[in-house]
Amino acid sequence: MKITTADRIKALPPYVFARLDELKARAREQGLDLIDLGMGNPDGFAPQPVIDSAIEAFKNPLNHGYPPFEGTANFRKAITNWYHRRYNVHLDPDSEALPLIGSKEGLSHLAMAYINPGDVVLVPNPAYPAHFRGPLIAGGKIHSLNLCAANDWLIDLGAIPDEVAAQAKMLYFNYPSNPTTAVAPREFFEEIVAFAKKHEILLVHDLCYAELAFDGYQPTSLLEIPGAKDIGVEFHTLSKTYNMAGWRVGFVVGNNQVIQGLRTLKTNLDYGIFSVLQTAAETALQLPDSYLQDVQTRYRDRRDFMIKGLGELGWDIPKSQATMYLWIPCPVGISSTDFALKVLQETGVVFTPGNAFGSCGEGYVRISLIAENDRLGEALNRLKKAGIKYSL
Ligand SMILES: *Cc1c(COP(=O)(O)O)cnc(C)c1O
Repeated sequence: MKITTADRIKALPPYVFARLDELKARAREQGLDLIDLGMGNPDGFAPQPVIDSAIEAFKNPLNHGYPPFEGTANFRKAITNWYHRRYNVHLDPDSEALPLIGSKEGLSHLAMAYINPGDVVLVPNPAYPAHFRGPLIAGGKIHSLNLCAANDWLIDLGAIPDEVAAQAKMLYFNYPSNPTTAVAPREFFEEIVAFAKKHEILLVHDLCYAELAFDGYQPTSLLEIPGAKDIGVEFHTLSKTYNMAGWRVGFVVGNNQVIQGLRTLKTNLDYGIFSVLQTAAETALQLPDSYLQDVQTRYRDRRDFMIKGLGELGWDIPKSQATMYLWIPCPVGISSTDFALKVLQETGVVFTPGNAFGSCGEGYVRISLIAENDRLGEALNRLKKAGIKYSL
């Protein structure tokens, strides 16, 4: 048979979320009322001013043609203004910011723009799937940076062998982290910039939870670190903060040559984001801080509600300082997949098995805080009724 998928597709491990979708569909067929806390898919509407701005932009015929390859000048300016307001760092909207069709697209395509078959890419384990799947599609060789609870899920740069560091071309990382909810202190960012400079490694930081932080914690941006722009780029998204996951709007900022490389690839693949959505995204980035406080309060309250409820079932979960997840250990003696399956079958509540994010996620499940407290309360009741406690 001549017509088979390319090796780059065959090299991909199965997408656990796709398999989870099948299992969910089967559970629905059996009449189960699912409470889906599996995906990182925020519930609810985008902010009203954003929706209004999109509706207005729809009425302009100029917005209906192909958008400019590099994104609209106004959106790029809104990005660099937002960035300056948040982090007090100046960026050039023409060369140091590029709109993306969601950050997942850019994270994956960046590997295609920079990785030759066989190039070594350093990727944490566990990680957001695009951080290793993008490099795999590009033919890269993944060197896993194994994370663990004992090291607070921080990358141990000292554990990377010198010969691996010397070969590595790119390093992906993500704090506040999906799935582990870990945050990294500013000193860690300083260390990783020094490490990347020493070994000439392109640093790729995914700061998609820039705004979803609680209790006064303020996530660090890579580009706040002096010299980071020489070797690094940072990805952002509107999906989480602004409930715009379906709109597909994100952006990358940082090193101008790296951004140029990605832009060249994308010019050959896509036409960018619908101009209407870029106008709406400008509005989102200009929303007053009170909007952000509302979002933060919503996720913080859900976090506290779930931690308390699970605590009554025997789980001792430390308070996450950021993200929209809880990362919790499975009961002793059961694998992530078996535990998530058992919970799904016995309660209709969907958790994501930790191994969906890499082998070092084994022994954990991720719970997305993407439902109101009444549904989360219902999920807790069902866990309680089914006798799903920390020690089974
Ligand atoms: C949700 C998420 C994204 C967002 O992807 P988009 O394509 O912008 O919707 C990126 N990185 C991580 C770690 C995420 O959790």
